[in-house]
Amino acid sequence: MNAQQDNPECATLEPTTSDPAGVYSHSTDSAYFDADCEPIVLNIYFWGIKHPDGVDYFPDQAHDVLTAVASLNILYNQFNIFFKYKGFEKIQSPTLPNDPDGHFVMENTSQFSGLISWANANGYKKADAFNVYVFGWGSFGGISPGYNVTTSGVGAAGLTKATITHEIGHNLNLIHTRSSRGFNGERVTRDVNDPDYNADEAGDLVVDTAANPGYRDANGNYPYISANCTYDNDGTQVDYDGDAYIPTHEDVINVLSDAYDCMDAQSPLTNGQGIRAREAIEDDVNGLFAPTITDIASLFELYVGEYYLNGTTEPAPPLFQPGFDYRFFECSCDCPQPSNYYDTSFTYTNNSLLTISKYETDFSKITHPNHSAINLGITLCGAVLVRRCYDNYNKGPKSGSITRFNDGVLNGNVTITPKDSLGINNPYLVDELNPGLYKVEKNYDEGATQETVIFKE
Ligand SMILES: [Zn+2]
Repeated sequence: MNAQQDNPECATLEPTTSDPAGVYSHSTDSAYFDADCEPIVLNIYFWGIKHPDGVDYFPDQAHDVLTAVASLNILYNQFNIFFKYKGFEKIQSPTLPNDPDGHFVMENTSQFSGLISWANANGYKKADAFNVYVFGWGSFGGISPGYNVTTSGVGAAGLTKATITHEIGHNLNLIHTRSSRGFNGERVTRDVNDPDYNADEAGDLVVDTAANPGYRDANGNYPYISANCTYDNDGTQVDYDGDAYIPTHEDVINVLSDAYDCMDAQSPLTNGQGIRAREAIEDDVNGLFAPTITDIASLFELYVGEYYLNGTTEPAPPLFQPGFDYRFFECSCDCPQPSNYYDTSFTYTNNSLLTISKYETDFSKITHPNHSAINLGITLCGAVLVRRCYDNYNKGPKSGSITRFNDGVLNGNVTITPKDSLGINNPYLVDELNPGLYKVEKNYDEGATQETVIFKE
């Protein structure tokens, strides 16, 4: 098999004048997001294309898919755009006439439309989610079949790199920042009073990305990019008016740049790009985005596992998608397990029973401890979201103690008897106590404690 797995080139075509334009403000104002209290949450689903020979060439792909979900959230959350992971499944490609690799290998860009047709005909495309098709090898690294669409193709190696955030950017109407291909050449000037100013109608149409001449040449080399990913202008690269290009380092590494070797999954986007993406979703010229939008409550839902409710066997623990700074605050409630997202009647403290970074790569750690509520680090209109208290006392304590108040009143004259798991879970624990005043303390798995004062007659 031809190992071009690492080819980073994106095969997305530039928009044409026949593409629907939609409403776009060209704003670059960061205050756009300050006032924005309405998060947009988009469902996303992944399809791993298996080779027709049935061999699993990418056994770790499920982990890479979650890494992609994390990268998308880390990059797009600043624009109040969130991605809800809805699942991943591997589907086996048939062999095709004259192509024993089937849809697994994208030998050329036209094969992507064949993949989409096959997926559509076989029920491998969700109308209520963005669909990412992960192929094995290709002559290109990734593809979005246009703009304002909800399908993309990503080479397997691209799930953990900039390819995923780049192609989803195209889905969300973001154009390559380079200006020499496609649209009329973007001029360097950013002075709106300059008659040559065309940043809002040329190149990527976003005015806070620099005009850039395309960093990668036809041979896949970067003649003007230095080793530290800065644009090295020797004066020979000029726009149509003879002005030298002045892209910054941030422009070089922008996730919609074509300096692929300088980009990673969390390469930056500008405010202007974020606003363009938001406005594309809201305008929805193709009507494809609206069905993919879900509620912010969905981010507080597990993607696998289940909550322990009662009984002696514990199910696989609930797991939550990566890419957020989780804190699980100690909480208390008399509620269903866990409480409904919209029920905020429970109490909680600032004691985090479990803290997870958005960069955590061991996804099995991202579970919901008993006696805690979920905080994703999301603040909406100044309100910190702490939701879904899971406070289940059906699960036995792991240890505890009996404190006897020797004087029969709550003072310091006490005798403390530690109890192990068997002792504290003894159903006759209280029955077996002599008359007197006691405090029973129970310690639970995740650090929560429960204290009960008992007067035994
Ligand atoms: Zn691209």
